[in-house]
Amino acid sequence: MTILVVEDEIKITRFIKKGLEMDHYTVDIAYDGKEALEKAEINNYDLIILDIMLPKMDGIEVCKKLREAKVETPIIMLTAKNTVEDRIKGLDAGADDYLVKPFAFGELLARIRALLRREKTVKNTELQVGDLTLNPATHEVFRENKEISLSSKEYRLLDYMMRRPGHVCTRTMIGEHIWGYNFKDDSNVIDVYISYLRRKIDKGFRARLIHTVRDVGYKIQDKKPKIKTINVSAS
Ligand code: CA
Repeated sequence: MTILVVEDEIKITRFIKKGLEMDHYTVDIAYDGKEALEKAEINNYDLIILDIMLPKMDGIEVCKKLREAKVETPIIMLTAKNTVEDRIKGLDAGADDYLVKPFAFGELLARIRALLRREKTVKNTELQVGDLTLNPATHEVFRENKEISLSSKEYRLLDYMMRRPGHVCTRTMIGEHIWGYNFKDDSNVIDVYISYLRRKIDKGFRARLIHTVRDVGYKIQDKKPKIKTINVSAS
């Protein structure tokens, strides 16, 4: 389980990191809002602990932007003020829970456990785009009830795109998510894997689900088939 801790006060990050690691979580840290956004869009964290008062971009903004980008990672917001407005702002921005500073570490751990339990159910929920389904619990992929066998990279790529239906997945997002944080887009490896996926999930089926977004990347979407005019020749 990997948790992203977003907080600019080094003393607090150290304290949270140490405590979480003692509880066997893996911890990554971001010290400002922009770094948090970049890291959270690329990595598949299990949970994010997000302070509101941050340099460059505040926690509320980070949270809003993540939800807009369809990043559904559970977020616990840390707030310095225990005001109703602050809590409402956080929850409205898409946070799942909040904790008022200073907090008891045991309470943070309990809230993390509660969110992760809930998330397990969500993560294992079947994904569906048109007649394509992906079951995260069994790793089974079906289209029109026909089982499709994928390699592990193809599976991760499809899972990543199906969690963002209708949204553009840029080459950088895909590259860094599947091939790692230092991915350099100087090869055609992504296009190659997309072509493998297309061959397996699109070829021979009613409609194409994987769409190229020119110069940017790809998206998966079930577009309603257009009604074509058929020209019947007179001869
Ligand atoms: Ca702070």
